[in-house]
Amino acid sequence: MTTSSVFLKSILDSIVEQIAVIDLAGNIVFVNQSWISFGQNNQCKSKADWTTINYLKVCDDSAKMGDHFGQKASVGIRKVIASEIPMFYFEYPCHSPKEKRWFIMSVTPFLFENNTYLVISHKNITQRKIAEEAVLNLSRIDGLTNIPNRRYFDNFLKEEWRRCLRLQLPITLAIIDIDYFKLINDTYGHQAGDECLKKIGLLVKKFTKRPSDLCARYGGEEFAIIFGNTDFKTSMKMLNRLLKDITDLQIPNEKSPIMPTLTVSIGVSTILPSAQISEKTLVASADKLLYIAKEKGRNQILGQIL
Ligand code: GH3
Ligand code: MG
Ligand code: MG
Repeated sequence: MTTSSVFLKSILDSIVEQIAVIDLAGNIVFVNQSWISFGQNNQCKSKADWTTINYLKVCDDSAKMGDHFGQKASVGIRKVIASEIPMFYFEYPCHSPKEKRWFIMSVTPFLFENNTYLVISHKNITQRKIAEEAVLNLSRIDGLTNIPNRRYFDNFLKEEWRRCLRLQLPITLAIIDIDYFKLINDTYGHQAGDECLKKIGLLVKKFTKRPSDLCARYGGEEFAIIFGNTDFKTSMKMLNRLLKDITDLQIPNEKSPIMPTLTVSIGVSTILPSAQISEKTLVASADKLLYIAKEKGRNQILGQIL
């Protein structure tokens, strides 16, 4: 190696990104120190001479094992080789048993002595991904109760509606409104009111355990629940238990005309989605039933199959 190539190799070895160079057949012709170290730390080919390995074959083999990201890498690299795209990059998760990790892979070609080579670079972007996930979570969660907010709920409902329509499954929506909540604020102060909302939020969340369920703070002192793929009878059973559990919390509301503790009213609708209507019909129906439950004396559930 000439002095200048030693100099260039030293530069490549000092770069934190894992870099490999492959020829047009996918054979690895060079890897930097980060690449070697990553392999050693992740039990992959730790003792192997990387230049005996075909990178495309590695991607193809993992694709054959069902790895969707191996498949994507293989397709992308081949597109660069075929000059269909000038460069290729994509982000992928690569979690270790100890930590969650994400990487970005980029593939760029270069010409050397009439031969084309590809530089494959892997960069750890975990910190950025964690920050992105945190921001995303913040935008979905209600700051007071720590359960999903209205915006997230609306999006989830649209998606769950579409899923239930496609699979022809029933979907249930419940709107839960605290009775005489204003009296709690007036009697015990706004902060005590906030504490009640937190307690109710925590309880409501316990009733939404499946991936197709979601609860949310729907408004000031209103909560909502989606039970995807759940019929009316099952939903009513759970909501009756929720109503009882809320009463059992024995949160004081001494000025309430119903009883001296906090109660709620609930409107519930179940529907088998059809293409002619939207999820808005379900919301409107639960909302109307809640209104009637209030009129009929509060502290009760009114439900309907649409
Ligand atoms: P109803 O039985 O008819 O539902 O009566 P209500 O008093 O519960 O309903 P109303 O709509 O008259 O009052 C709701 C109150 O909820 C008024 C509002 O100040 C209070 N509220 C809304 N958001 C919050 C909050 O984040 N914290 C607190 N402490 N109070 C809130
Ligand atoms: Mg209300
Ligand atoms: Mg209320």
